[in-house]
Parts: sequence; C-alpha cells; structure tokens
Amino acid sequence: MKAKSALITGSSRGIGKAIALALAADGCDIAVNYYESSQADSAINNANRSDAEAVAREIEALGSKAVVIGADVSSAESAQGLVDQTVQALGQIDILVNNAGINKDNLLLRISDAEWDQVLRTNLNAVFYCSRAAVKYMLKKRYGRIVSISSVVGVSGNAGQAHYAASKSGILGFTYSLAKEYGRRGITANVVAPGYIQSDMTARLNAEQTAKIADNIVLGRLGTPEDVAGVVAFLVSSRADYLTGQLIRVDGGMGGL
Ligand code: NAP
Repeated sequence: MKAKSALITGSSRGIGKAIALALAADGCDIAVNYYESSQADSAINNANRSDAEAVAREIEALGSKAVVIGADVSSAESAQGLVDQTVQALGQIDILVNNAGINKDNLLLRISDAEWDQVLRTNLNAVFYCSRAAVKYMLKKRYGRIVSISSVVGVSGNAGQAHYAASKSGILGFTYSLAKEYGRRGITANVVAPGYIQSDMTARLNAEQTAKIADNIVLGRLGTPEDVAGVVAFLVSSRADYLTGQLIRVDGGMGGL
C-alpha cells in the first residue's frame, strides 16, 4: 500500500465502515465521515457522530490514525470542507472512496421532485463535489486513488428505483471521464457495483424476500460489507496500479453468469 491516508464518505456504518476498517488494517490513516446537517435534529447528528467515533476507536485499535468529520456530502460547501479537514488532519488525501448513499424506493409516478433531488444530490452530486475537491490535492502529489460505490442497479435498472438507478448510472460516466482526464497525472478512478449486501439499507427485507433474492445469486447468499471492502482495498493498493476506468461487480454472480 503506497497510499497513506483515505477519506471514506458515509463510513459510520454499513459498507463504508467495513471499507474504513479494511484500509486501516492495510496501514492507512482514515477520515471517518458521518452525516451531519444544520437542518437535521441535533439528536440525529449526535447519534451519527457516536457511531463514527466507535468506528474511529476500532481503527485506532488496528494501529492507524482516525479523524471523525461530520458533513453533508450532498452540499458542495460541506463536501469541500470535508476534504479540506481531511487534509488538515491527516496531511494529505491519497484515497477517496465515494460511498455515502441513500435510497428512497418508489414507483416512478410516486417519486416527488424533492425525493428525486435528494437521491441525486446525495448519490451523484456528492461524488462530483468530493472528487473535485480531492483531485485538487491529488494533482499536487501526482497520485490519487478514487473508488466510487455504484450498484448493479445502476447497470441494469430496477423497478421502484428509477431515481436511485439514475444516480448510480451517473457514477459510471463520471468515473470513466475522470479516469481519462487524470490518468496521466497518477490518479486512477474505478467503480465498485455491489449487488445485495446485508446492511441497514437492505435490513427491511423479510426472510422470504431474502431467500428469493439468494435463489437468484450464483453464490447462494447475500453479500457482506466485508465482501465489498476487500475489493475496494485491492483497488486502492499497489496491486491495482495498472487498473483505471473499470467497473467491478461485487454481486456473487447475481442473475446468473
Ligand atoms: P447504509 O448502511 O444506509 O449507510 C449509509 C452511509 O451513508 C451512512 O454512513 C450514512 O451516514 C451515510 N450518508 C448518507 N447520507 C449522507 C450524506 N448526505 N452525507 C454524508 N454521509 C451520508 O448503506 P450501505 O448499505 O452501507 O450503502 C453504502 C453504499 O453502497 C451506498 O452508496 C449504497 O447506495 C451502495 N450500495 C449498497 C447496496 C446494499 O445492498 N446495501 C447495494 C449496492 C450499492 P449516517 O449513518 O451518519 O446517516
């Protein structure tokens, strides 16, 4: 691992937390980001912060440095502040993992303008805001690793997720462009597209729905956050130095091979 410091957006729980711990285990200092908003209830902000602080303690137990930073990545100003604070606290930003995301599943005719905006801002605009801010620092070092978490739904679409799928598809075109724009300056950009992963996002599925989904997966089970984290850790390691502009599905062979 050449990289020394990493920012993982939305790393207070779920897949982001697993990525933060995997990179810390590989020797990286980590900026743990949780959702903090001036518009949110302070009790919500405090609960999110304490989740992030627990992740920071786990990182420190692995021997790496951790800094906890609250931000709302769907806001350009807040995302810029998040990246700046990462550099102030860790000295540099070698790795950016755009992981934060939300879903607001609904049929097209029931998606409100506000829901559409919120999903697109959080899942796609945030990737632009954080990447733009991080690339400025990465260019100075002529080194950077950007991995963005899309979804298999961004590749194939899904009923009830038109806004989510659109945001996740957008990440693909964005990443391919970034890879072409900055490859010669030592910055790589790749996409990981998870299938069904056990996290708060999929916790509302009942046992019957989970069994039905697993039936359609070649490996016969839902994924874990660690399944995704292992692939991200590979992509930011020196083993993947000659890899850019790639989409890797981490879905256990969903829908057959
Ligand atoms: P999760 O358990 O719901 O966690 C989401 C994370 O994003 C939390 O840490 C949350 O912070 C953070 N977050 C949400 N909005 C934010 C904002 N505006 N600013 C900063 N942080 C924000 O979700 P997950 O399952 O781990 O998903 C992680 C990523 O994988 C997402 O991009 C998701 O779309 C993608 N994905 C997930 C699956 C799956 O099956 N789970 C499949 C494909 C793709 P707080 O905890 O502080 O609210």
